[in-house]
Amino acid sequence: MSIVVQKFGGTSVADSTRIKNVANAVIREYNNGNQVVVVVSAMGKTTDYLVKLAGELAENPNHREMDMLLSTGEQVSIALLSMAIQAAGCPAISLLASQIGIITEGVHTKARILDIKTDKMKKHLDEGKIIVAAGFQGVTTDGEITTLGRGGSDTTAVALAAALKADRCDIYTDVDAIYTADPRQVPAASRLDTISYSEMLELARVGAKVLHPRSVETAKQYNVPLRLRSSFNLDDPGTLVIGDDKMEIYRPVTGVAADLKQVRIAVLRVPDQPGIAAKIFSSLAADNISVDMIIQSLEEGNLNNIAFTVNDSDLKGAINVLERVKLDINAGEVVVDGNIAKVSLVGAGMVDRPGIAAGMFEAMAEAGINIKMIATSEIKISCLVDKDQAEEAIRSIHRKFDLDAKVEMQK
Ligand code: ASP
Ligand code: MG
Repeated sequence: MSIVVQKFGGTSVADSTRIKNVANAVIREYNNGNQVVVVVSAMGKTTDYLVKLAGELAENPNHREMDMLLSTGEQVSIALLSMAIQAAGCPAISLLASQIGIITEGVHTKARILDIKTDKMKKHLDEGKIIVAAGFQGVTTDGEITTLGRGGSDTTAVALAAALKADRCDIYTDVDAIYTADPRQVPAASRLDTISYSEMLELARVGAKVLHPRSVETAKQYNVPLRLRSSFNLDDPGTLVIGDDKMEIYRPVTGVAADLKQVRIAVLRVPDQPGIAAKIFSSLAADNISVDMIIQSLEEGNLNNIAFTVNDSDLKGAINVLERVKLDINAGEVVVDGNIAKVSLVGAGMVDRPGIAAGMFEAMAEAGINIKMIATSEIKISCLVDKDQAEEAIRSIHRKFDLDAKVEMQK
């Protein structure tokens, strides 16, 4: 008997009609003879609503209490979905992370999963029950409730699939596949049948919001067969995310994405001495703030400017840290530029093809877009541009690399 893990996001369980649809999609897999674990997120915009409520009561709400609050969203949706499945005549049981044993570290609001107990799940599955598991949440060994970071239900699904050695992990969403770009931003974007873990990971990291980056990281690490598919059309196979070694051909470029949620921070006139960068970035790391593009430029004499980007949700925290560190290292002021976006081009085949970076910069030049910062990795090139030029930038890059071609040919 195969084990199938399914995941449905907030939009798919936004009201009772949609919950019934999800119940049908779950029962369909069950009736095909599979053991089914279904992971759900909180209904609709519940989590956003809870975040807003908290913000009305405290400027910087306590992280433990945030987890206590936000984890309630998923408790509601698992109970409702389980009832809907039972009402349709199938045995089901809803389980919180603490009941399953999804053990995380104690970092509130962005905890990582350390271990998943499978004995209880296996027992229920062997008794013929469908398991409805709460996404996004975990529990520490001390019994504290944690959450995995916004959008974390994808990660729950993949981690459960890895722990159970599931045959499939299907992430159902309101898009039907992974595209070469977000079709809302680039109407000519084309569908991808397959994509490698590494490419998907980069795309997810640079702002393609279809999958949570940590879910892809986990899928890659444990070789979980991951599929992104439509919750509206259950017969559509969607896009399969597979091992880098299983890809038959490496396209030089696979997709483009824009991340509008970055801000640039610059620390000006930093002394040019060993240990200074270490001090800045280890202080940020100590507060769990992830830093993205980093650039150090020579200012004058023996002073440097150090600039980097962070997620806008980490801005306040980063400023707090830097105002403190600044005094310590004798640096100038800390300045923030919020009017930026990061546009990225991803492709596992770009290694050893020097023309790719040049092509990307040409595409920006042709569109008259100024590049404010550049960063590269083996399979990705990112440029920082003004926020209002981000969409134009990705359309121009998409065109330059003939990613539009497939769709146009089909017309
Ligand atoms: N409900 C959580 C959120 O909105 C988790 C998720 O949707 O995956 O972030
Ligand atoms: Mg969500």
